[in-house]
Amino acid sequence: MSKECPYPSVTGRNMNAEIIAVGSELLTPKRVDTNSLYLTDQLNALGVEVVTKSVLGDDRERLAAAIALAASRSQIVILTGGLGPTEDDVTRDAAAQALGRGQTLREEIAEHIRRLFEQRQRKMAEINRRQAYVLDGAEILPNDRGTAPGQWLEHNGSCIVLLPGPPHELEAMFIKQCLPRLQRVAPKLAIRTLIMRVAGMPESDLDQLIAPAYKKYENPVTTILAAAGDIQIHLRARSETLEEASALIEEVRRPIEDLLGDRIYSWDGEPIEVIVGRMLRERRATVTVAESCTGGLLSEKITSVPGSSAYFVGGFVTYSNRAKIDWIGVPESVINQYGAVSKETAEALAVALRRQTGASYALSITGVAGPDADDAPKGTVYTGIADARGVAVVHRQFLGDRARVRSFAAQMALDLLRRRMLS
Ligand code: AMP
Ligand code: MG
Repeated sequence: MSKECPYPSVTGRNMNAEIIAVGSELLTPKRVDTNSLYLTDQLNALGVEVVTKSVLGDDRERLAAAIALAASRSQIVILTGGLGPTEDDVTRDAAAQALGRGQTLREEIAEHIRRLFEQRQRKMAEINRRQAYVLDGAEILPNDRGTAPGQWLEHNGSCIVLLPGPPHELEAMFIKQCLPRLQRVAPKLAIRTLIMRVAGMPESDLDQLIAPAYKKYENPVTTILAAAGDIQIHLRARSETLEEASALIEEVRRPIEDLLGDRIYSWDGEPIEVIVGRMLRERRATVTVAESCTGGLLSEKITSVPGSSAYFVGGFVTYSNRAKIDWIGVPESVINQYGAVSKETAEALAVALRRQTGASYALSITGVAGPDADDAPKGTVYTGIADARGVAVVHRQFLGDRARVRSFAAQMALDLLRRRMLS
């Protein structure tokens, strides 16, 4: 049997993998298929994309159909689970059926399993002999941590790999047995990833704006990931050398940058609290916060960065009107006249807070995280910033539940501070 998968067309092109997780328990709410996450991470590191993954119950016919389909369209097919000794473990039989191969009992495996049982002072059950069957033409992948060996076979130019289900067995087998084999068959690929981050923009607006700049490129692959108030644009380029991969990234990065300008706050995936922290340090500036609807989330974010004591003075959770008035010094008349959730209150809160603390920047947040309040609908948020130059307030109407609105608001406050420092 040849040691290399014959992929004449693969050079310079992406190699595709498909993962099939087998086990009826994985189709219940009780168990999650984590093996495929592990495998995806490992495969990606080799420059292999996972293009499809599926979860199938212990059903031989369905599994055989899935294996046949996978083998017909993917260059690497990895199955996990269903290699146990019991009747419900059908991966071997399904693979034999799908690939039209026989199975042979291998005495050396049966003997190995028998010895494992002996070591634990137990007698091997007759059903364990099922685990000693190997598909014709397959290489055996020894299992250091359990009874079921894995199998590696090449079929019409695809590699089909059977791995055990228990994660500690699968992971050890992958590293020892699969990795060296995959390194032989996977084309040498250099991968470069760029993660740009943007704050304070709805995902759909962002995509509409930048889609024309990236849609026509297959390499790099562009992925947009959105969390509340924070969007990540991932560019992933593959090529034979790192220089080429970098050049491919540049080609897409530049037009995206032209479109987004200073809305991009990070180019290496760093979160906004880290960026803002660095900017404050560089300016030898300090910041303080008075938060209402975010209840401390903004302080939490700022102080999640190691070394934030260099610039974070402290913060108040001024949830009630009384706290805004008594602790910070917001004029009662402002709250009475405009309401707690208003531009004027956000402004007064930031100004009074800066006066109280002497910080370079004072941030205020007041809003309605949900449900709807008397003075404003849910999702209304005002964020204020006061510094030596004066005060500014931004108003936004966010969509989503309480947690999302709070997260949006904290992100917006950090972005307001960032922009203030840039301007
Ligand atoms: P099996 O090899 O199918 O007998 O699986 C043995 C055990 O491994 C199962 O009971 C699960 O607890 C675990 N397992 C199987 N498949 C997976 C998977 N895809 N992700 C995480 N754990 C798994
Ligand atoms: Mg199972």
